[in-house]
Amino acid sequence: MLPFGNNLCPEVHVGQTAHQIQDCQGPGNVNRRSFHSWVKGSVNDVLIPIESYHLFDPFGHRIKHETRFDYDRIPAVVELCIQAGVELPEYPSRRRNQPIRMLGKKVIDRGGFVKDPKRKPPSPSSPLTELDTYWAHVGQFPPPSASDIPRLAQETLDAYEKVRFGVRKLMNKYSVKACGYCSEVHVGPWGHDAKLCGAFKHQWRDGKHGWQDATVDEVIPPNFVWHVQDPGGSPLRGALKRFYGKAPAVVELCTQAGAIVPVKYKPMMRLDIVVPDTDEARLVA
Ligand SMILES: [Zn+2]
Ligand SMILES: [Zn+2]
Repeated sequence: MLPFGNNLCPEVHVGQTAHQIQDCQGPGNVNRRSFHSWVKGSVNDVLIPIESYHLFDPFGHRIKHETRFDYDRIPAVVELCIQAGVELPEYPSRRRNQPIRMLGKKVIDRGGFVKDPKRKPPSPSSPLTELDTYWAHVGQFPPPSASDIPRLAQETLDAYEKVRFGVRKLMNKYSVKACGYCSEVHVGPWGHDAKLCGAFKHQWRDGKHGWQDATVDEVIPPNFVWHVQDPGGSPLRGALKRFYGKAPAVVELCTQAGAIVPVKYKPMMRLDIVVPDTDEARLVA
């Protein structure tokens, strides 16, 4: 199975063949009768990268539009883990031995401001280079042997569930903000002031993001795709859309590769639904 990406709209599909559901909203969709224009997908189509600014002190100075280039952008999950105690030499973090005193949203005592240490370029031996999905895409990893695939699928799915579980727990203690208009995420007690929001009515906000508390799905977007019940069968069709279920792209990829479906995904994947063939579907009132 392959993930199919798409350069004209965000739709992603996992399967031997791309689906034929005519719901493309991308540019030129009218000329394609709303069929999607598929290309080979990448890791980033399955796991949507969400980056945020790394902060030496999340309780320090707020990032301004003018100072945004003083900060590195790293995966939001990594930033969350750093703030929670993971030590990565390239991305130092202020560790306090006195708690921050706050009154509501106002910081009463943060232990003073400390100057950010000088930025160092990441070393090639850094664990962060393993997170560089670009290299995974261009073939850093050879394809697995057929006998290894089910095990690899199960390990991948287990890891995905473990990360989501951990992120959910950490988010109860460390605040993460998300823009209500676009996909920007900020790890820290308040947002930042980089005016880069290009979403709905951004002119009214002078490009400022609309911050609110983030959900786990905003930090690790599930990126729902259609569930393919029979990967060897005929492509999914619009006429049968209401019989199909959905799953996060990672879950769908691992399931098709032989992993066991976690119970919580079964209802949304509609595993018990018998999908009729197109002719039968026409007879259903
Ligand atoms: Zn499309
Ligand atoms: Zn925004």
